[in-house]
Amino acid sequence: MIPGPEANICVDCVRHANEMVTRHEKSAKDVPPLPPTPTPREIKSFLDQYVIGHDEVKKVLAVAVHNHYRRLEAAESGKKDDGVEIEKSNILLIGPTGTGKTLLARTLAKMLGVPFAIGDATVLTQAGYVGEDVENLVRYLLQNADGNVELAKRGIIYVDEIDKIASKTDNVSITRDVSGEGVQQALLKILEGTICRIPPKGGRKHPDQEYIEVDTSNILFICGGAFVGLDRIVGERTGKRAIGFGAKAEEEEPKKGTDAASGGPAPLSMDVRPEDLVKFGLIPEFTGRLPVITTMKELSEDDLVRVLTEPRNSLVKQYQKLLAMDGVELKFEEDALKELAKSALARKTGARGLRAEMERLMTDIMYDAPGNAKMKKVTITKKMIEEL
Ligand code: ADP
Repeated sequence: MIPGPEANICVDCVRHANEMVTRHEKSAKDVPPLPPTPTPREIKSFLDQYVIGHDEVKKVLAVAVHNHYRRLEAAESGKKDDGVEIEKSNILLIGPTGTGKTLLARTLAKMLGVPFAIGDATVLTQAGYVGEDVENLVRYLLQNADGNVELAKRGIIYVDEIDKIASKTDNVSITRDVSGEGVQQALLKILEGTICRIPPKGGRKHPDQEYIEVDTSNILFICGGAFVGLDRIVGERTGKRAIGFGAKAEEEEPKKGTDAASGGPAPLSMDVRPEDLVKFGLIPEFTGRLPVITTMKELSEDDLVRVLTEPRNSLVKQYQKLLAMDGVELKFEEDALKELAKSALARKTGARGLRAEMERLMTDIMYDAPGNAKMKKVTITKKMIEEL
């Protein structure tokens, strides 16, 4: 027996307790090995199945995500430090709404073996008084990693609407400041790597609460935003008119010989520099933490037709599957698809407008088809779309 101040404990119990504690500690540290690192080509071809266009952006993402894995491998291999540290390359995705920024992020999540979380910068506040704390982004990631801190530390976080936290100084288009710069400062810390203290059950921080600590140094951040007005800032710097990703594109006849005229990427849209972002209202330290900048163009009419039909779970395929279950074959005439794309284009909501159009079109058909033995085939014509 081992005597204590108020009771005695037998040697067997001490051994037993010791074993339990060791086992517990071991399982807490248990992390599955890193999934095999996909090659950039593998990542891109997976993205291609779901996301139309944006070839350059997909390449940039594929390389960044591949490097992210390699970096983790290096960090987790436990090999002796050779003094070469692979730095994290957080990514900034700039592009108009409805072009597929979130879709790209979601699709990446689908293929990756690391936890992934999506957050929205507009709800973030500096101290969490009104909106959410910046730490919440990491909390979502931890949730998606089933509470496994070690797994969460390998994750990727997508932060949407990052342009909305730009502060208003020098900014031509955003009129809101509130605490933009404060949020940027707070985000900056987790972007570059800090120990994030997360309340275990969510909710507000409480002084007596125990926190879960997550080191964010290895978490990859992808930030996305429309940055309305940025094309003008880039244009001013380069002395060229804006023919980039913004709505100005159609107002200006692209000169013959430019990429825009040949249908390739507009040169301006590829040339966003950190100083332009600073002019837009991001603090220099913040842009410094987003070294990979990539821009997305608005989807063209042809792209929108492809969005309707080509992705693995395209709207057309979804409705065809639904109706097939009721024994109805659904066909779209080429002109009808073009007309759908045209009206979505007119709404300026990118591919997002397609769903609304499609819902309106399909409601009656979906209402009539099930249980209707006479209905064997439905063909959608241009006229039907025009009459919507
Ligand atoms: P963003 O984040 O750029 O505003 P989203 O990714 O939310 O746009 O796009 C809205 C929806 O439009 C997506 O869920 C998807 O169905 C469709 N979509 C947008 N862009 C594309 C694309 N390039 N390829 C396929 N579908 C797309």
